[in-house]
Amino acid sequence: MQAYELDSPERLRNHLARERLLYQPQADGQGALRWQRLDDPAQPFVVPAEPPVFSAKAFFFAEREALFRYENGRFIALVPEARPQVLFGLAACDLTAVAYQDRFFAVDPHYQARRAATLLVGLDCAHSCRHGFCAMMDSGPEVRAQTADLILCPLAQRWLLLVASERGAEVLAGLALQPAPADWAQQRDAQALQVAVEQGEQEEIALGCAALNGETVDSQAWEALGLRCLGCSGCTSVCPTCSCFAPLQQPSAGGVVQERVWDSCLYQGFQQEASGHNPGATPGQRVQRFWYHKFGEDFRQRFGRDGCVGCGRCDAVCPGGIGVHQVMKRIGEP
Ligand code: SF4
Ligand code: SF4
Repeated sequence: MQAYELDSPERLRNHLARERLLYQPQADGQGALRWQRLDDPAQPFVVPAEPPVFSAKAFFFAEREALFRYENGRFIALVPEARPQVLFGLAACDLTAVAYQDRFFAVDPHYQARRAATLLVGLDCAHSCRHGFCAMMDSGPEVRAQTADLILCPLAQRWLLLVASERGAEVLAGLALQPAPADWAQQRDAQALQVAVEQGEQEEIALGCAALNGETVDSQAWEALGLRCLGCSGCTSVCPTCSCFAPLQQPSAGGVVQERVWDSCLYQGFQQEASGHNPGATPGQRVQRFWYHKFGEDFRQRFGRDGCVGCGRCDAVCPGGIGVHQVMKRIGEP
């Protein structure tokens, strides 16, 4: 990778924002960060200590959108016109999740239209967030080169800028940059190691994963966890790799518009069939299904990695106290 010194992230950001909409995590005034459009180039770029409440998935997989219209006997595709945009400051775990979703939505024209119009600028984490375990999930803390176009690396007193794709190299045209010092990779590796140490061994995740795949968790344990699930869909909304949606038909003048909306496998009716049979009839079955999708061997083989990227958002958001650490601890107990 080509590596440069960068005097400030704002200089790069404002250069990229000249020809694109630019989004970065910004304070929402309620003590959290959310992805927001940059409207003032004088605004400083603040390195997030915690991930934004929502990941970047809605930029590509919209929470609600029209797919096609059926009118006068014809199907009319409603593929969005995506404007060039930059996501500036994506953490390594969230970029790994984007790469995961790229596979899931590989032939989805709506997702791909937005994805093709988006430049991804990653940000190495210099410290662990509260609930993160990206080092164990092979998704961080340093940005994986194949998941981003450009990578920012904050080191003590300096910034590195790494070029991770051809598109990343092209967009730097006109920006004067000095090469990084020869030992930049060692410094970056040392920082990543330090963050992994901060995250610790995460033994409960490893034990829970082994129990889940060894099928040593009985249905009573799942039902006990299910009792704590309120079916609020908080976990599935914030999880960067959740991709379930439901179809929705709306009448329109002379026809019908087919939409899709985010769905949640924690909803009681998610799997209910037309016959009335429901393979996920109990809360425990639904909780179990969710976690199989994140750590099950079948999914790992299909997607080339786990469905969990270790962002810890489900820990932060679950009102029933059954985020990833609590669940894996409970099912991994002997
Ligand atoms: S956030 Fe917790 S309570 Fe809400 S649906 Fe997910 S597991 Fe259930
Ligand atoms: S399961 Fe939880 S920790 Fe894993 S990626 Fe989803 S929200 Fe993040």
